[in-house]
Amino acid sequence: MISDAGRAALDRFLATDPADVGCDRTLELLHACAELLVAGENPEQRYPGIAAHLRACVPCSEDLEGLLVAMGSELGER
Ligand SMILES: [Zn+2]
Repeated sequence: MISDAGRAALDRFLATDPADVGCDRTLELLHACAELLVAGENPEQRYPGIAAHLRACVPCSEDLEGLLVAMGSELGER
């Protein structure tokens, strides 16, 4: 049998993109992604696992938006 907490963890695991690198790695490279966006480049090409994570993780995508706003980019306005 699986506990409720175990089932919730399993659901989260199954909902996660297999390429998703996770919050820690994303936050490490969030600044690099923001710089690519500001430069008009697509960070998904260089960091596909981070792009996958940002689609799945609201807190991290909000952090990226905040970073873009702080860098003065209109991309953060979307
Ligand atoms: Zn995250």
